[in-house]
Amino acid sequence: MPVRIILGMLVTLVGFGVAGVRFHWLSRLIRSGQPDPSRTRGSFSRRAEAEAVEVAGQRKLLQWTLPGTAHFFTMWGFTILLLTIIEAYGALFQKTFHIPIIGTWNWVGAIEDFFACAVLVALVIFSVIRIKNAPARLDRKSRFYGSHTGAAWLVLAMIASVMITLLLYRAAQINAIVDPKTGQNQFPYGTSWGPFASHALAKVLAPLGSGTNSVLATVFLILNVLIISGFIVFVAYSKHLHIFIAPINVAFSRRPRALGGLNRTPDMDMENIDENTVFGAGEVGHFTWKQMLDFATCTECGRCQSACPAWNTEKPLSPKLLIMGLRDNMFASATQLLTKEGEQTALVPNVIDPDVLWSCTTCGACVEECPVDIEHIDAIVDMRRYQVLMESEFPTEAGLMLRNVENQGDPWGLGQSKRTEWTESLDFEIPVVSSTIPDDVEYLYWVGCAGALDERGRKGVQATARMMHRAGVKFAILGPKESCTGDPVRRLGNEYLYQEQSKLNIETLNEAGAKKIVASCPHCFNTIKNEYPSLGGTYEVIHHAELLEHLVRTGRLVPGSGYSGKVTYHDPCYLGRHNRVIEEPRTVLSAIPGVEQIEMRRCKQRGFCCGAGGARMWLEENLGKRVNMERTEEALSTGADVVSTACPYCMIMLDDAVRAHNKQDDVRVLDLSQLVEESLGNEVQAPGTPIP
Ligand code: SF4
Ligand code: SF4
Repeated sequence: MPVRIILGMLVTLVGFGVAGVRFHWLSRLIRSGQPDPSRTRGSFSRRAEAEAVEVAGQRKLLQWTLPGTAHFFTMWGFTILLLTIIEAYGALFQKTFHIPIIGTWNWVGAIEDFFACAVLVALVIFSVIRIKNAPARLDRKSRFYGSHTGAAWLVLAMIASVMITLLLYRAAQINAIVDPKTGQNQFPYGTSWGPFASHALAKVLAPLGSGTNSVLATVFLILNVLIISGFIVFVAYSKHLHIFIAPINVAFSRRPRALGGLNRTPDMDMENIDENTVFGAGEVGHFTWKQMLDFATCTECGRCQSACPAWNTEKPLSPKLLIMGLRDNMFASATQLLTKEGEQTALVPNVIDPDVLWSCTTCGACVEECPVDIEHIDAIVDMRRYQVLMESEFPTEAGLMLRNVENQGDPWGLGQSKRTEWTESLDFEIPVVSSTIPDDVEYLYWVGCAGALDERGRKGVQATARMMHRAGVKFAILGPKESCTGDPVRRLGNEYLYQEQSKLNIETLNEAGAKKIVASCPHCFNTIKNEYPSLGGTYEVIHHAELLEHLVRTGRLVPGSGYSGKVTYHDPCYLGRHNRVIEEPRTVLSAIPGVEQIEMRRCKQRGFCCGAGGARMWLEENLGKRVNMERTEEALSTGADVVSTACPYCMIMLDDAVRAHNKQDDVRVLDLSQLVEESLGNEVQAPGTPIP
């Protein structure tokens, strides 16, 4: 048997054998996680769509134009060049081997050469980016801060070596004549218009003669096989594991995205609880297999870190470092996870510092950016649940908010009797539902705690109510029967209190016969729309920005000329990113003749948090810069006269920061409804003809 076959197969067996053992171990480790039946439900077409868009289309990576494009070609290069791996192994056994049928088509050779060259160009781009970023890598602003960058150079070198040896062995094949009579060479493809790069290199090697080229073809072929085998082993043991497992992670991801509602709704029925019941995640083994797959898939690219409002304001939380920490702990706990014996490390504070855990605003920027669909928020809330429900450990200042919601039904503790005070200054009556919603009422207006009870929040809901009234929308409120939806307590980790609140509200809504709900607060909107269905509350829920857009579009509300100036719109995270209500508020703004819209750098689904979500509104912010200050500085830098938004929490946070900058006389923070109302001024305006 020729030496090339013995050598080639030997390195292949060793490489693939070592990698195979590792992959089998990884598979057992990940499958040791808790079950998650929701991941195996769902249609095949949704998973196929995820693969097509996220893996094949590289949707998220292409947003980072240059590195994204380079990654696109590298990923596709790996896929297309699987053909050349088949050809290489075939050539070990038969020098003139070709893949049946397509293996002699010139255009197949052309595509192979194109991608080999494209990958080499991409590697140069990656190298330049890394060299350029090298000095900044110790700077928190670099997305590579904290990543393992040394291994990245090795992987770049290995990929380059695979491509170079591939092109060299193909070039030598072209010059290696196997049949002097026919002139047949070892290369399966024909003319030079096909595999153009191999032919160009062949011209360089041609002076060495057919014999030497035959030897070179064998040498480069064995080197190619050797590097591929080594690469597989390296990938199996490094963060580059994502090359193989990212498509699996994407296939099992939540579609269309892991935003909106939380993934798990634990059974909090006390009758089903025993001494083995665990709520949330206190050790890595409490996470589901999908969450463990998430941890193993992280590429350390740092895109989540760059977008995180906590990290951008010098807090210790980086979603990347959090996932890396959980991954490292998962590997360190492998023996306990696989044998189900021995103690695992408590995650908080040993793996995740409490300051890291409580800094998250659940804004979703990390989930939005992650190119491999890692679901950070669910992991963070699972750890908070454990801290709150199992350890009773949480920031002390949150205790008051929890007690207020529990005892008074709102985070401020003002009580149900105050919930209709905001209506007293209106010059029309709003029906308050006492038993069932009257038939002529189209919408139940869910006002929310901040809208009903906070002075600044009230201005927004009063304007929304006036706009609905003016447009002839029939609506009613629950008044004292409305209670906190449970969003802040759920994001804080108190799942028990959340479920108590939600069951109470669902009972009220069902008894009232609610079908269509319009909510002013994006947190209430998100919770009722996306989280109540799993507890028996299913309604048609819209946000007031959507209703305003509908009223404007159908001519029932025609903005006037009472406002003139520059407006920048701040996307509330739970409206824009979590629920994709992005264009509707902008459509309303553009319908106001005097508005000049200016976008902030971070806007729409990539907007920057105000700092209030994830129950952060109720926690002290002593670390780093305040998130609302960072966001407001960005808003002020646009030169806008009005910072508009559609969330009472954002209103409060942005207004506070405008005042802290002493800019309250120059810049106003207004809800979308207030701006529409201001544009109407005192104009007496007949509503337009509704479009059916
Ligand atoms: S949800 Fe927002 S604050 Fe929390 S880790 Fe992700 S980006 Fe950071
Ligand atoms: S979690 Fe996702 S975005 Fe963040 S570093 Fe890992 S792969 Fe990149």
